[in-house]
Amino acid sequence: MTSIILVLNVGSSSIKFAAYPAGGNETPMLRGKIAGIGTDPRFTLSGAGMDAATFGPISADAGQEDLTVRLLRWLDADTALGPVVGVGHRVVHGGTEFSAPVRIDARVLETLAALEPLAPLHQPFNLAAIRAVAARHPDLPQIACFDTAFHQSQGELARLFALPRRFAARGVLRYGFHGLSYEFIAGELPRHLGDRADGRVVVAHLGNGASMCAMHGRKSVATSMGFTALDGLVMGRRCGTLDAGVVLYMQREMGMSADEIEDVLYRQSGLLGVSGISPDMRVLEDSDDPKAREAIDLFCYRAAMTLAGLVAALGGLDAIVFTAGIGENSARIRRLICERLDWLGVSLDPDANTANATRIGKAGSRCDVLVLPTDEECVIARSTKRLLGAGRLASGH
Ligand code: AMP
Repeated sequence: MTSIILVLNVGSSSIKFAAYPAGGNETPMLRGKIAGIGTDPRFTLSGAGMDAATFGPISADAGQEDLTVRLLRWLDADTALGPVVGVGHRVVHGGTEFSAPVRIDARVLETLAALEPLAPLHQPFNLAAIRAVAARHPDLPQIACFDTAFHQSQGELARLFALPRRFAARGVLRYGFHGLSYEFIAGELPRHLGDRADGRVVVAHLGNGASMCAMHGRKSVATSMGFTALDGLVMGRRCGTLDAGVVLYMQREMGMSADEIEDVLYRQSGLLGVSGISPDMRVLEDSDDPKAREAIDLFCYRAAMTLAGLVAALGGLDAIVFTAGIGENSARIRRLICERLDWLGVSLDPDANTANATRIGKAGSRCDVLVLPTDEECVIARSTKRLLGAGRLASGH
């Protein structure tokens, strides 16, 4: 039996997980998800040849803590996998302190808990799972991998808001997110771009959450998300960049509370808010409703504007990479964004784009355009193994 590393990505309504051999192999032995936590929980497994039914029924009131502990028990008792020897967590916020993955102890947990107000919709769930594992398995090593860490390479200008300095001193800075996805893509670039991998590249992570990252030398130079994961692009349910005056107007003139405003900005806006139909790009692409079309157009218009701004931060553009659910799968969205960037030397090969090929830029055009699948779990597994010492774990000592 092989010892395993469990990777957990615990969110407000789901737990995504993957189990990797603790040795060198990077192929997960199983992947799965508990979706609909708190409402209509469903357990699914992919590519494992194992029966999801062995997990048993999940009650609607089961929370992230209970389910994380149950998941560990299930892995141990109901699968043929070996013992879990380390757990790697996606943790959304590492603040200014953590620029790399870290082994979690009481002090680290306390520091991360202090960051909860900076990511109230993500961080508390990430930490709840860590605490639940620590309470039941105090000797099991746990590693935190941060969505913010990849952006720590950014310079001062990219991180500052034009606010009085005292706000920056309190941590009101642009942090950026989706760093695990960007780290994975940065690692893939040399294989596809050769020497140009270290040039000026914009990676567009377009999923339910969406952001872009400008990289030079495969390091983050600027990104579209800022203090929170609300900033930047139009997302499934989040509004993206918004004039702060709108928030004041909602509060003063419309009498909305902070909680009500948060609900509008995080859950009722974006593709869902503009279309009035769905936050899901596939549903909107299949719809004939003019509002669905307008939501798609706004998504692409704002994506192209954001990308052009990042090109200014880079001083030029050698390649664009599309990734995540929409970026990897929607030829139409890629086309609509790239059509607006023709003046930057961006030009698509229509057949390659339709086929979701890896290289979709027209031969001979100035800018390479790639479609690369991202794999955040792989990055977490790699970091967890590195910190724990893969050789030691694999041999079970
Ligand atoms: P993610 O958050 O990375 O899982 O991405 C989810 C988003 O990707 C949703 O908006 C999906 O509708 C979208 N998506 C997935 N597959 C497709 C597809 N074939 N065409 C368009 N959008 C897609």
